[in-house]
Amino acid sequence: MNTAMSECPECDRLLSQYQTATFEQAKIHDAMDEANYLRDRASTRRLTLEAYEVTSRRRGARAALARHNETVHGIVTVH
Ligand SMILES: [Zn+2]
Repeated sequence: MNTAMSECPECDRLLSQYQTATFEQAKIHDAMDEANYLRDRASTRRLTLEAYEVTSRRRGARAALARHNETVHGIVTVH
């Protein structure tokens, strides 16, 4: 990461959004494993929906970050 990027507040914001979603996704997957193990069908169903939501949020955050890098910093990230 170069100096210009690390000083960009929008990069910080987008990156922290992505990291938050990544962390939440990991947490939900752990909870899903647990619910599966306990055969807790209600929780499994609820967590499955949450996993879909957080996955699409994480994908969106990653796309926004890539788009920002490309348009503002001229850096093309590999998808
Ligand atoms: Zn930036």
